[in-house]
Amino acid sequence: MTAPNFTRTVLGVPRIGPRRELKRVIEGFWKGAVNRAELESTAAGLRRAEWARLVDAGLDSVPTNTFSYYDQMLDTTELLGALPSRVAGIEDPLDRYFAAARGTAEVTPLEMTKWFDTNYHYLVPEIGPATAFSLHPEKILADLDEAMAQGVPARPTVVGPLTFLALAKPVDGAGEPLSRLDELLPLYRDLLARLAARGAQWVQIDEPVLVTEAGLGLAGDAARVYGELSTAADRPSILVATYFGSPGPSLAALAGSGIEAIAVDLVTDPGTVDEVVATPGLQDKLLVAGVVDGRNVWRADLDAALGALGTVLGSAAALAVSSSCSLLHVPYTVAAETAPEPAGAEGVRSWLAFAAEKVEEVVTLSRALTDGREAVASEFGRSAAVRAARQADARLNDPAVRERLAALRAAGTGRAAAADRAVAQRDRLGLPLLPTTTIGSYPQTGAIRVARADLRAGRIDEAEYVRRMRAEIADVVRLQEDLGIDVLVHGEPERNDMVQYFAERLDGFLATDFAWVQSYGTRCVRPPILFGDVHRPEPMTVSWITYAQKLTDRPVKGMLTGPVTILAWSFVRDDQPLAATADQVALAIRDETVDLEAAGVKIIQVDEPALRELLPLRSADRPAYLDWATGAFRLSTSGVVDDTQIHTHLCYSEFGDVIGAIADLDADVTSIEAARSRMEILDDLNQAGFANQVGPGVYDIHSPRVPAQDEVEASLRAALDAVPAERLWVNPDCGLKTRGTQETVASLRNLVAAAKAVRATL
Ligand code: GLN
Ligand code: ZN
Repeated sequence: MTAPNFTRTVLGVPRIGPRRELKRVIEGFWKGAVNRAELESTAAGLRRAEWARLVDAGLDSVPTNTFSYYDQMLDTTELLGALPSRVAGIEDPLDRYFAAARGTAEVTPLEMTKWFDTNYHYLVPEIGPATAFSLHPEKILADLDEAMAQGVPARPTVVGPLTFLALAKPVDGAGEPLSRLDELLPLYRDLLARLAARGAQWVQIDEPVLVTEAGLGLAGDAARVYGELSTAADRPSILVATYFGSPGPSLAALAGSGIEAIAVDLVTDPGTVDEVVATPGLQDKLLVAGVVDGRNVWRADLDAALGALGTVLGSAAALAVSSSCSLLHVPYTVAAETAPEPAGAEGVRSWLAFAAEKVEEVVTLSRALTDGREAVASEFGRSAAVRAARQADARLNDPAVRERLAALRAAGTGRAAAADRAVAQRDRLGLPLLPTTTIGSYPQTGAIRVARADLRAGRIDEAEYVRRMRAEIADVVRLQEDLGIDVLVHGEPERNDMVQYFAERLDGFLATDFAWVQSYGTRCVRPPILFGDVHRPEPMTVSWITYAQKLTDRPVKGMLTGPVTILAWSFVRDDQPLAATADQVALAIRDETVDLEAAGVKIIQVDEPALRELLPLRSADRPAYLDWATGAFRLSTSGVVDDTQIHTHLCYSEFGDVIGAIADLDADVTSIEAARSRMEILDDLNQAGFANQVGPGVYDIHSPRVPAQDEVEASLRAALDAVPAERLWVNPDCGLKTRGTQETVASLRNLVAAAKAVRATL
């Protein structure tokens, strides 16, 4: 039962493939273009190659079962026999699995939501009164067999029972999923026995929920679960992995249980090092010290990491060096980036460490512990030189940006009182009651995709590209006029992505070619890397918006992405507080609003769909975050005069925790996802003292379904129960770029008709 300790590992790895091979083969399989044998052999090849890389790099314990056809939470749901009954009739296991992930014509998929505070999305298990757990370990055992056959020092990983249940949602009137904890323990015991029987020396059980606010109340359960599992006679040595923050009171609970090892994230919250030192009971454990940041892309400060390792060294029986969390959240390797570096970002690539480079850092640090720092002096020296060069780089310190920010902060970022602004704007804009508008994007047509591909391939020049985009804009403007929408948009055809578009136009950002990260299922994103002080060399959106405005007498909204969302969907610098970086981005957006205003644009929307995403996992840390986040938004939107109307847009999330912050944004008009929550959001906003104008989404754009006019009318009447007509706008839930043109036109026609009908009754 007691396996030899290991010394160097990571908690998990990317799995989509260095060139997104897994994405391609799975999507081919879904389309019927790839057969099952091909799918499975590509997947097996990716696993084999990944394990070989990790072993070659020098890890002496390799996480396995990190591969997934879609999501590790869905894998765990399948492992525990908890797939929803609506897919139970699907005979083939893989078809059943994909049905739960994506739905079919007959069944709706599981809901998807963010994995802690990352940009990865997991599928939410549904636990109902009829859910009867049972163990289905075929996948994890087959994966282990493959790894063992390859001679890999395999450490199968699995999501733990606390995290699984805490992230599940109750359905069909069931109570809290965590109340079912005792039913899962025999299954995990059984799983441990089977893994041991197949030769696993170690197992890694992931319990990131322990670092969250909810986790603060779970220390007793952690003690009970791991006390119980560690008494199993047949089992591998158990590593319980915590990450994304400090395990808090659970650290002592785990230390007091009979497990062999605990993984602790020593990066996210620097205070965790002291907590480890102060925790008795670790003296008989292997401490897996997460000193290499698994969430960001910068080369580690090896000397600081070695210092942290030195501090915790005496606290445990043994020490292994590791990443702070799974490397799922970073791209494969910097070595894939071979094109010349873009102008302005020369040399930045040398500052980066993706998954492969982080593995090297783990090995270097581990060798420093085992063989002494001299043995790896050259690695330390090179790394320190790069960090020093980065720190001294002039692009990290632009005095002009810093002086302007300091002056603005001193002057304050408030506008006139919202009620006074509303009067000024009403006079200037002359809009009807219940004005209609959309959130920004219109359907991405084939012509847009062709134009983008043609430009990239050099088949057309920039001028031709602009001409084609303008044709798209003209179409969208004409469509909105025909539909009778009151406040128009240009449709965002020129934006591949609402963050990338701005990152490509701002100094201080580096774009990559192959640095893909899994977002959910086969969907990957390539977050820009924010490396330096942010500066806007020239206007980014003005020519598109003014072109649209020239085509119509109705007001066209300028459309920008807010500072918090730009940060949330980028890799950000780690050499200054996020708040400081947010303010720099805000300044660039502010400059854009001022230019739009000067060009005659009367309404400007600054989207912040990610406001909720960066919310810290522990409530004690939240007020400070909300303070700088709303401050950055106000900085970005307070450079305009009172009769320029500022809109914002929020979506994707449960707003409960940030409801007060929505009021603090002090936008003149806030459009917000509401169709699925049945307008309840309006009562919440009222309770939080929100008194500005609001556009609760009156239909859900995540489905192709066209809402009937009377449905939209009913939503509007429900909204009018909570908000007076003078404050109410009419709009869809979110942007329309993922929708088809036909359904969009039909939906908007009903939306406008409903607004007119309700307006007539006021
Ligand atoms: N303006 C963006 C759009 O309409 C907003 C997208 C979003 O909220 N994610 O596409
Ligand atoms: Zn949205």
